[in-house]
Amino acid sequence: MRKWVSLALAATLAACIGGGDSNPAPKVSVSSSDHRPAKELFGPVAVPSSQNPESFGSYSKGCLAGAVALPENGPTWQAMRLSRNRNWGQPVLVDFLEDLSRKAAAQPGWNGLYIGDMSQPRGGPMSSGHASHQIGLDADIWMLPATRLDLSRAERESLSSISMRRAAGAYVNDSWTRQHHEILKAAASDPRVARIFVFPGAKVQMCKDEKGDKSWLRKIRPWWGHHYHFHVRLNCPRGDKTCVDQAPPPPGDGCADAQEWVNNILNPPPPDPTAKPAKPKPPVTLASLPAQCSAVLSSR
Ligand SMILES: [Zn+2]
Repeated sequence: MRKWVSLALAATLAACIGGGDSNPAPKVSVSSSDHRPAKELFGPVAVPSSQNPESFGSYSKGCLAGAVALPENGPTWQAMRLSRNRNWGQPVLVDFLEDLSRKAAAQPGWNGLYIGDMSQPRGGPMSSGHASHQIGLDADIWMLPATRLDLSRAERESLSSISMRRAAGAYVNDSWTRQHHEILKAAASDPRVARIFVFPGAKVQMCKDEKGDKSWLRKIRPWWGHHYHFHVRLNCPRGDKTCVDQAPPPPGDGCADAQEWVNNILNPPPPDPTAKPAKPKPPVTLASLPAQCSAVLSSR
């Protein structure tokens, strides 16, 4: 069944490319001719491409060749929501998650980490849930302490994480612990990590609680949502020239900016009467992704 899906997709793509031409080398690339939403093309592919690991494009507009899987079970982690088939990434992401889960397991009350969405087998846009996670360098990590590491597949579908926020994200709630602080600190202190997204109240709490060096807080970026999980984004792997890094966070620990965000949650500024409603973005097409992404899709 899995094989059939990817073969059928390859056949569809080949049909689009070849147009009946007997020459196997496509004259028209998929990227310039295919205007279907890319999520419809990447979503159904069940297996990674048999290419070397390489990210093409940026976190929110790209794809992933040669992905590797985070094993569904490990000594200090479990991958969650296996039905989504999103436990794929660059090798460096898998290594990072395994390393961080070992550090989490050293925290009182934690035996490791529950790992949420990473990327699809070939990266690319997803049918639900994320604008980013497209190049195998993003991962969502549950805030729920991983106590049991023998969850069944069914339990990994039904179990929910827990929210850490109150007052619409201005503050942490009683579920937030020093262990969360230490795990996020360990993640942010890792040189492989570019940024971590978490709700503003958590950042402000960590700014208050950190009595030592605060430089790691620079990578902790306040963002909407992100109170059931935090989102870790890695830097492009060294030497991966087709991977597009994001500009680094502004200098400094960012604590004042996070406090300002919190102040705006508590006392929202009046709406700007001249603001125009945001236009919904058109879906990302294969044509708008890096050209290599059509080869990633059609590769074995
Ligand atoms: Zn995420």
